[in-house]
Amino acid sequence: MITNQYLQKVYQETAKRNSAQPEYLQAVMEVLESLECVVERRPELEQWGVMQRLVEPERFFQFRVSWVDDAGHVHVNRGYRCQFNSVLGPYKGGLRFHPSVNASIIKFLGFEQIFKNSLTGLPMGGGKGGADFDPKGKSDAEVMRFCQSFMTELSKHIGEDTDVPAGDIGVGAREIGYMYGQYIRLSNRNTGVLTGKGLSYGGSFVRTEATGYGLCYFTDEMLRAVHNGFEGKRVVISGSGNVALYALQKAQQLGAKVIAMSDSGGFVCDEEGIRFEIMQDLKENRRGRIEEYAHMVRSARFTPNTNGIWQIPCDVALPCATQNELGLEDAKALVSNGVIAVAEGANMPCTPEAVEYFLENQILFGPAKAANAGGVATSGLEMSQNNMRVNWSFEKVDQKLHDIMTDIYQRACQAAEEYGYPGNLVRGSNIAGFQKVADSMLAYGITY
Ligand code: NDP
Repeated sequence: MITNQYLQKVYQETAKRNSAQPEYLQAVMEVLESLECVVERRPELEQWGVMQRLVEPERFFQFRVSWVDDAGHVHVNRGYRCQFNSVLGPYKGGLRFHPSVNASIIKFLGFEQIFKNSLTGLPMGGGKGGADFDPKGKSDAEVMRFCQSFMTELSKHIGEDTDVPAGDIGVGAREIGYMYGQYIRLSNRNTGVLTGKGLSYGGSFVRTEATGYGLCYFTDEMLRAVHNGFEGKRVVISGSGNVALYALQKAQQLGAKVIAMSDSGGFVCDEEGIRFEIMQDLKENRRGRIEEYAHMVRSARFTPNTNGIWQIPCDVALPCATQNELGLEDAKALVSNGVIAVAEGANMPCTPEAVEYFLENQILFGPAKAANAGGVATSGLEMSQNNMRVNWSFEKVDQKLHDIMTDIYQRACQAAEEYGYPGNLVRGSNIAGFQKVADSMLAYGITY
């Protein structure tokens, strides 16, 4: 509930303007609620209209993407790019290819990205894009033709100093490669206009692993504040895509046992511990279904529903699949089974009711914009390397990622403490991310 009058007005206007965009309004509500204490302490934010400017994207593109399948049939998808806020640097944020993509999802992700990018301490603004295209079940040639058509339009709006997209759900190394190739062909410029590139053509070490690794570095810091980190913990991870896979690997390296993972068809539970190499081969190389894991590993059992994964007793839960995948009933099950910490690898995977329940029950809770910022942070490091035309070693990038995640954790804790909410990382992350953006908007005057 927002009680501050100025913020109430900002929210009501946003809701009126975006009435058909529930995910976007959910994200705005969560941020505005957290920032009430800041707005009350800093009257210049109202005087200079910072909040109403913040909730309106600087630019939003929607475009037709036509492509031809292997049988010669023509398909039309809808592409998007939201250039939300550029006060801290070039717009930065991933591209999502999934049938559920629409303007609301793109705007919620772009809005969150502003604060996340600010938290990394790197000079990056917030943006997001994608299309309602489903790469699942398509041949490589079909995916290539779609990516080329998508980039033909997107290339008019991006640039290494303007807007630098990356991957997200449905956009991995294959899709980035096809899009980057098309960008170079169209522009005749080999610049770092996308991140998440392959190592042979300008990519950075650790970018593939970054979100999952960063999530675990952040969670380890949270756990260390009261326990001995990941060592000996039982961990449940939802999803089995890019974020989930590398969270699995890092959690194991830090001494945890990961006992369950999922995809949109169901989950596998393996009390012996999920085997990273088998899961990686299944998901990255063969693009298989998680059910197949249970055919390959005798100690694993498959259940054909997704939410049941949160009924499994664990110490640490890492939702790494998609938005609103963990609701109040799931949160209750986790708490009654003794969960110690929950950290969001996906964007907004926990519903507001679930988050509130975790906080009320003193569960350590790492919100997405802090806990999964490792991906975009490493994208920022990829941009730096591209600009300098150098390649840093795996160890160097990994160390920088670790330092950034530790720093984010500490700054979120400090901001929460400073505003009277010690230990509340939801508020702390929003406040710490917002302050830098707000200070820059104030410094620029009324530009956007
Ligand atoms: P991927 O496409 O690689 O993986 C998504 C995974 O989630 C797949 O295993 C998918 O299964 C599964 N999934 C989707 N819906 C459900 C569901 N309802 N229940 C269970 N599993 C489900 O995406 P990423 O790993 O890249 O992204 C995951 C999340 O992390 C997203 O919210 C994304 O925005 C966020 N994120 C990603 C970053 C990155 O660097 N990649 C950076 C920061 C955040 P299936 O294959 O069956 O669809």
